[in-house]
Amino acid sequence: MSTFQSALTQLERAAKLINLDPRILKVLETPEHLHEKTLTIKMDNGSEQEFHAYRVQHNNSRGPYKGGIRFHPQVDMDEVKALALWMTIKTAVVDIPFGGAKGGITVDPKKLSARELEELSRQYARAFFDILGPDKDVPAPDVNTNPQIMGWMTDEYAKLAKGGEQRAKGSTPYAIGPTQLQATFTGKSIAHGGSEGREEATGYGGFVVLEALRVKQRVKSLEQRANNSTPYALRPTPTVAVQGFGNVGYFFAEHAHRAGYKLISISDSRGAILDKRTLGMDPENIMKTKKERGTIGGCYCIGTVCDCENYTQISNEEILELPVDILVPAALEGVLHKDNAHKVKAKIILEMANGPTTPEAERILLERGTLIVPDVLANAGGVATSYFEWKQNMAGEKWNKAQVLAQLKEKLEYAFTEVWRTAQELHTDLRTAAYAVALERLKQAVTVTRT
Ligand code: GLU
Repeated sequence: MSTFQSALTQLERAAKLINLDPRILKVLETPEHLHEKTLTIKMDNGSEQEFHAYRVQHNNSRGPYKGGIRFHPQVDMDEVKALALWMTIKTAVVDIPFGGAKGGITVDPKKLSARELEELSRQYARAFFDILGPDKDVPAPDVNTNPQIMGWMTDEYAKLAKGGEQRAKGSTPYAIGPTQLQATFTGKSIAHGGSEGREEATGYGGFVVLEALRVKQRVKSLEQRANNSTPYALRPTPTVAVQGFGNVGYFFAEHAHRAGYKLISISDSRGAILDKRTLGMDPENIMKTKKERGTIGGCYCIGTVCDCENYTQISNEEILELPVDILVPAALEGVLHKDNAHKVKAKIILEMANGPTTPEAERILLERGTLIVPDVLANAGGVATSYFEWKQNMAGEKWNKAQVLAQLKEKLEYAFTEVWRTAQELHTDLRTAAYAVALERLKQAVTVTRT
């Protein structure tokens, strides 16, 4: 099943459960615009190289299109379509006034020099200039893109906007104010008008959702104890394994570690480190090792003292099968599939990546009683904070980090409560419930052609 097929399967399951008008379903099954361009950049060795670039605008019934731009060798139209559909659902789950979109370039950015990466990023902004804008389509970072790349894109976009406006109107430089122009991209560096708290927002948001879930579970467990049935509880200090050590995985691990969860394994694209004694590792130490040695390796180092005996290296597949309480896939889609789902031992899967569980894997996992906190809720902290950034730029305001994170927490706790309540009411899993919440909102906004 292709990634877009997986996204459609999830959408259709929820649509069926809530008896969604088939005309609305049809609208949501079909991305509104598919844009594809070839970008040519001059490489450092003097040669020219072509890259495929995409922007899929899935739906804008609830507001401007919104979604990240991914730089990865696996990027293709099918993947971008799925990711764009997930954004439409995600923005509706957390009830922010945006639609859904996604972009990408088929490239391994690790193979580019800093200059080549900057040129490619600027070319992307130029190529899609006409379809982007604070009230049209607002990109953000995704896998392998970051505040610096958003800064380059914002800068390039502003240059074009300024030039076009000057040509059209003589001397007035901007059609809209400069900070409003910056609202074309979110997840920017602070210097380019980014928001405090945006970088850690996705990871922190996942932690907030997990804590909200554990409160519900404690209540459930107390009820079960009162009824003399088997309590539904995790260990008091739950163990966690995180697949992916990018911005999302790192900040999630940081917050979980500080709150007392035991991080027993974490991986990057090359492999994972496992804490054999399950004492729990500090992600900051692992990050230092990664920066110094280029890999998180099999040794755990605190300062210059490294322990290679009680820690070992495991593979990126093995991390998914560890006997932990909480498994956090925070890398790419489709890592939990029909061939490994029955080997997963975690009680909770917190989907910090987009689409890590295929529908076939989900069926197996749900039958085994695994609780899956879906991507469209678990990782929605990123786009929710993008909304706060957009709002600040549009109003020419600056909020401090505490303000941003407090609003984020409130938004996600509310979204979680609604999804949880819907799951109980509809007797369904959390993904279908999240889609049901989103579809209830989308159906108010989507216009269908009357026949
Ligand atoms: N790329 C992130 C996501 O998948 C953030 C999107 C955004 O902020 O627009 O949710």
